[in-house]
Amino acid sequence: MYIYPDASAVVRDLAPDEPVILNRPHAAARAGRFFAEKFPGKSLYAVKANPSPDLIEILWASGITHYDVASIAEVRMVRGLLPDATLCFMHPVKTASAIREAYFDHGVRTFSLDTEEELNKIVEATKDAAGNVAADLRLCVRLRVSSEYSELSLASKFGVDLANAAPLLQATRQVADWLGVCFHVGSQAMTPFAYVQALDRVRAAIAQAAVTVDIVDVGGGFPSVYPGMEPPPLEDYFAIIHRHFEALPIAYNAELWCEPGRALCAEYSSLIVKVEKRRGEELYINDGAYGALFDAAHVGWRFPVKVLDASRSASEAEFAFYGPTCDDADYMEGPFMLPGDVVAGDYIEVGMLGAYGCAMRTAFNGFGRGEVVRVADEPMASLYRGDRADPRQSDNVVSLR
Ligand SMILES: *Cc1c(COP(=O)(O)O)cnc(C)c1O
Repeated sequence: MYIYPDASAVVRDLAPDEPVILNRPHAAARAGRFFAEKFPGKSLYAVKANPSPDLIEILWASGITHYDVASIAEVRMVRGLLPDATLCFMHPVKTASAIREAYFDHGVRTFSLDTEEELNKIVEATKDAAGNVAADLRLCVRLRVSSEYSELSLASKFGVDLANAAPLLQATRQVADWLGVCFHVGSQAMTPFAYVQALDRVRAAIAQAAVTVDIVDVGGGFPSVYPGMEPPPLEDYFAIIHRHFEALPIAYNAELWCEPGRALCAEYSSLIVKVEKRRGEELYINDGAYGALFDAAHVGWRFPVKVLDASRSASEAEFAFYGPTCDDADYMEGPFMLPGDVVAGDYIEVGMLGAYGCAMRTAFNGFGRGEVVRVADEPMASLYRGDRADPRQSDNVVSLR
């Protein structure tokens, strides 16, 4: 596949009327190597952040061997791509048929749960033809933790409360070969302290239940870089998580797991959009709330932008965007910083859309098509390149394959 040097070269070649997704395999591979080599445990890629088969194969090639899947469709898709990967079915509410197919047809042994009903469902669905309970289940009890340090909360939907955790951990211990405790601090956790607080809750749950724990899974939430969101280095997260993990009352050979989604794929993709119309400081562009810019519209996420015409040189101004559909909600407040003389017909590159961006496109209102190409230049921001405000010496020594 041809690799363009950068977004401007794509515009020169294609003059695209539809949005174009730009993928950067080298950036995803760098993120994969970083987690594979530096996280002090196993890293499970959370497939929902971006289920693109190309990306999954890049992560596999860069050392990511475990995948957090949340639906039977994700189980089938990843198993089809990667026959040797370890798949972990980490949605706490599954159908019996999904559990059965995952266990018997796709070799899945790890499941999460947050109720006794789900535990019983897993036990029943994985019994063999003679009615024997499976002896090789790895069951992770999902604990509810606070999302107060994260930009996107995941605190209300899943997880057993600490007050009810002990009986569930004990019941799970009875049938699990490996017993795990997992949680999710919310997405884009802006400080490692989010994990400290959650691990304190894990400690309390284990102490109350007095069970032997074999896996501690700290979930996702590892951040990427966006305008106004410059997180501390990931090494700080890893070091603090490791220290608090080591101090837990767990089996001596217990494993530490994490489930990064955003951090592994945010840098993978950006998007070229075209300005169809300008009205004051509002730009009507050809992607939006129903396309790759879902988070820009629905949770006010600010993505980095740049205009792809070098002759636009006025000082920067704040812009809001309208997407292409006829829905008023197809609006992105931003502010997005662009040269004040941007006009209809200009192309804009929107960066950091590899996570929860390019994966979210729909065909609503007839939009959502467009090409996907590869580019060789660097993402607009990176946690892995060593050019942040607080670069660590280790940033540039992630080994190359
Ligand atoms: C979404 C999700 C993740 C990934 O979260 P990020 O914030 O993208 O790292 C990990 N684990 C579970 C269970 C999830 O639902």
